[in-house]
Amino acid sequence: MTRDATAALASPALAPWAVDPARSRGRRHAEAATPGRNEHQRDRDRVVHCTAFRRLMYKTQVFINHEGDLFRTRLTHSLEVAQLSRSMARMLRLNEDLVEAIALAHDLGHTPFGHAGQDALHACTAALGGFEHNLQSLRVVDELEQRYPAFDGLNLSFETREGILKHCSPRRAASLEALEPGGVARRFVDGTQPSLEAQLVNLADAMAYNAHDVDDGLRSGLLDMTQLAEVTALGRVQQQVLAEYPGLASRGRRLPSEMLRRLLSTQVRGLVDCTDQAVRAAAPRSVGELRLLPPLAALPPTLATEFSELKRFLFAALYRHPQVIQTTAAARQVVSELFDAYCAAPGEMPAEHADGADPKRAVADYIAGMTDRFALREYHRLTGRIPFPAALPPALWSAARSAPV
Ligand code: MG
Repeated sequence: MTRDATAALASPALAPWAVDPARSRGRRHAEAATPGRNEHQRDRDRVVHCTAFRRLMYKTQVFINHEGDLFRTRLTHSLEVAQLSRSMARMLRLNEDLVEAIALAHDLGHTPFGHAGQDALHACTAALGGFEHNLQSLRVVDELEQRYPAFDGLNLSFETREGILKHCSPRRAASLEALEPGGVARRFVDGTQPSLEAQLVNLADAMAYNAHDVDDGLRSGLLDMTQLAEVTALGRVQQQVLAEYPGLASRGRRLPSEMLRRLLSTQVRGLVDCTDQAVRAAAPRSVGELRLLPPLAALPPTLATEFSELKRFLFAALYRHPQVIQTTAAARQVVSELFDAYCAAPGEMPAEHADGADPKRAVADYIAGMTDRFALREYHRLTGRIPFPAALPPALWSAARSAPV
């Protein structure tokens, strides 16, 4: 590679409105700077090495982990979000390390079995204020990870934690604010925005799951190409691809792969251009000023409309598909019966979970940390029942007590 080509690929200087790692608002527990890495690279590295990150490999988004080896898991989803976020951050001269740290951490608080698991845990913990995966992701990095001698959690920087807490009800925000005045929940009280890096990851998350759920939906046979052609954005890319490659429909996975590649490229380009225009027009002089403005990261209106249509399509055709509903109903039952079983017999959990000051919250934390397969094993061990009999290899049903992956 020539020197010029190498220079063109180097990270550009940060925009004035980007989060500068040298001016981080710091960590909850003060730590000395480390040589060779900035504060957000350090956050990213802490996330990659934590236990909750490895568990993402066996947690699902839409399908249950045992349903097929080629479907996305929370881990591959998080990597896709990181890839999209980094590409866009570089084009916009934002902090790439920060978007990567937020993206890799954003789903750490997800329960087993995707949204079905979260809904069940939310219902089980209604008397304690419920369960919400964004808050749980923050709880994982602030409290639940046990890796450092001097503090609980990963002690991440303010900016990474701000990006992880992407939604929060006013009631929750008030209680978090009481515990950490002026902290990451403050913006929900004040009605201000997070960094542009956090806004970007939030949109990259939705772009990633919309595209990969179409792909996984096709792979599973629950969606077909005729249905996709009726969705505006997908129909358009399908026509473009078939005009260029007329025989591609009969060549396996190349057609949907090329369609989704073009869909994502169009969205990335649209989001970068639209956000760039908005931020240049508003011209904040710092991330502090940017936080006081309306949200600036956005798709252009036409793409945003198509994006909503695609979301609605996935909701109706895939997330509400009878086969998915049947599986998620079983998953909900697994989570709520596990919750009842551990509440009735906390000694069934490892001692460090059974000793919590708030026993029901400790049970929720324990279940939220489980992988799909560990939750299924525990369900079988505690109830003797098998929730998904047809789909599971007998070897999975080991009654042996083992720690979560
Ligand atoms: Mg996500």
